[in-house]
Amino acid sequence: MKKLLTDLTKEELFRELSDEGLPKYRIDQIYKWLNVGASFEEMTNLPKALRATLDEKYSACGAKIIKTAASNDGTVKFLFELGDGNLVEGVLMKYKYGYTLCVSTQVGCRMGCAFCASGRDGLLRNLTAGEMLGEVICADGYLAERLSDARVGNVVLMGSGEPLDNYDNVTTFIRLLGAGKSIGQRSISLSTCGLTENIRRLADDGFSVTLCLSLHSPFDDRRVTVMPTGRKYKVADIISAAKYYFEKSGRRIIVEYALMHSFNDREEDAAELRRLTRDFPCHINLIPLNDTDTGLKGVNGREASAFLSRLTALGASATIRRSLGEDIEGACGQLKRRYVSDLKAITK
Ligand code: SAH
Repeated sequence: MKKLLTDLTKEELFRELSDEGLPKYRIDQIYKWLNVGASFEEMTNLPKALRATLDEKYSACGAKIIKTAASNDGTVKFLFELGDGNLVEGVLMKYKYGYTLCVSTQVGCRMGCAFCASGRDGLLRNLTAGEMLGEVICADGYLAERLSDARVGNVVLMGSGEPLDNYDNVTTFIRLLGAGKSIGQRSISLSTCGLTENIRRLADDGFSVTLCLSLHSPFDDRRVTVMPTGRKYKVADIISAAKYYFEKSGRRIIVEYALMHSFNDREEDAAELRRLTRDFPCHINLIPLNDTDTGLKGVNGREASAFLSRLTALGASATIRRSLGEDIEGACGQLKRRYVSDLKAITK
């Protein structure tokens, strides 16, 4: 594959293209174009011959949109194609304070959570930093075409993949977002199923993104039945790594908790969840389980409110996450699965 220029930091890009003999002002022009998703062909202030030479050696875009599904509530789901033809999803959500893009960090995932559609076929490969940036650039382009000054303002690493299983590329991506898109770490959330070594590493490396922990049960023996990573990473260790992250970064921790009927919505679950999270700043996000034909049963609105009341009565800070894009297969991995199975049906 050709070298992807958006994988490079600005300094690396300057080094790379200076070595090719390009002057600084040209590299500045190219850097600007790269951050708006232009192909070399579209870099119209560069001489034609230069565009052709660059095109022979490099790629300019990490991802392209090949399918979109727009929901009535303003949510847009993208199917992105990467340079090698692999597909990942992204979801653009509209909130009062602006647009948030949910970004994929891996093609597939090797964590194997029972309720999640992304990992059904295991991990194919990591995304590079430039490919993740490509998802944001594409979403910005989509917005700019429709609403001239709307841009992605927040990024959540909650698409397919486990971000902390792709540490180097994900942390480079976080840095690239700040430099190229002016999206600072306070506007970025990283969700993990609890890889404790890398939670600590993120803290030690000085990151201050919002850390979200996919807990889903406060009891190891239950958690492991839906999250195989629970064999290695125990709840107590995950909580202790999260506290460490809070101490280093000063950032409140978010616990994600997908409610499953009679599995994690009992009184003892609320009590233990509260006990685990009471001595550091923590908010609990209750997620209505998206149905992904796994046989796991979600909860209805009344049951979700009852669990929320239990938690708040115990003094916890908690909310039920608004479910967006239900009419467009908003849950992780669903659009890709549908697209790929349609494709198989067409090409059969
Ligand atoms: N690998 C990371 C990020 C990806 S998933 C992680 O585990 O956190 C983002 C969130 O969606 C996680 O909390 C995940 O557990 C949750 N999730 C996955 N499938 C879901 C489903 N069907 N319903 C509700 N939440 C789901």
